[in-house]
Amino acid sequence: MKVYIMTDLEGPSGVNGRADSIGNKIINEATAGRLLTEEVNACVEGLVRAGADEIVVWDGHGGSNSIDITMLHPAASLATIGAPILRTNFLDASYDAAVQLGAHAFQGENSAYLNHTFSSHGIAGMRLNGKRIGEIGMQVLHAAYFRVPTILVSGDRAACAEALDFLGEKGETVSTKDAVSRYTVINRNPLSVRKELTEMAERALKNRRNIPVPEMSASFELEYRFMCPNSADEFEKRGAERVDCQTVILRSDDFMDLYAQMHGWAPGLHNRKYGITRDYNKKR
Ligand SMILES: [Zn+2]
Repeated sequence: MKVYIMTDLEGPSGVNGRADSIGNKIINEATAGRLLTEEVNACVEGLVRAGADEIVVWDGHGGSNSIDITMLHPAASLATIGAPILRTNFLDASYDAAVQLGAHAFQGENSAYLNHTFSSHGIAGMRLNGKRIGEIGMQVLHAAYFRVPTILVSGDRAACAEALDFLGEKGETVSTKDAVSRYTVINRNPLSVRKELTEMAERALKNRRNIPVPEMSASFELEYRFMCPNSADEFEKRGAERVDCQTVILRSDDFMDLYAQMHGWAPGLHNRKYGITRDYNKKR
């Protein structure tokens, strides 16, 4: 069994952040990376107990510089990304399950630690086909495109609630902390979080066939509201429809193409270049 783990740095218990002008700043980054790596390892241990024999961990925060590979569980490999001309990332139909660790809620969610949507300095909010969405929902749909169930999400309590909104009531989550405001939080003890991550990962992977994969819509409209009009100018140049000074809409009949457009690809180009379909790398 092959499992994909997407990571972010805001969600682990103990990660410490502050206000940084309008956005977020994680402090003590080396410690934050170690805390994330420990949560990843706890999850990997549970996945191995449930029969996973290939586990790819994506260092998903910022420039892929959070996870300490020297501390990584021996059953996992680590993927990092650095170049602009690449497939948007490497989840595909060869995986049996997807996991999100260290997740955070979308921009503007109340009592959600370091809440933001992709950029805490740039994006005021996103709606997909009218529904508010952030990084968690986009990742769930990204996996669902290849018919891969997202079996587990961890992050603060708000991130877990957001995940369940996309996964449905059979979704599994592990709450790491409880935010009082965007920058104030009560962390659960990291040792008890890790223990729960191991148990839940094992249970969720064993139960993966009962976890529904969200249906893909026939077409997608992604509304991007930026904090600064300059960002809307940039997207308009790439072909997005300009709605108002700060807002654009991206459109596609294909979720991966839409996802690629978010990352700067012209409509249709990414999937054509890499031959991406919903069966991309499907096992025979
Ligand atoms: Zn993030």
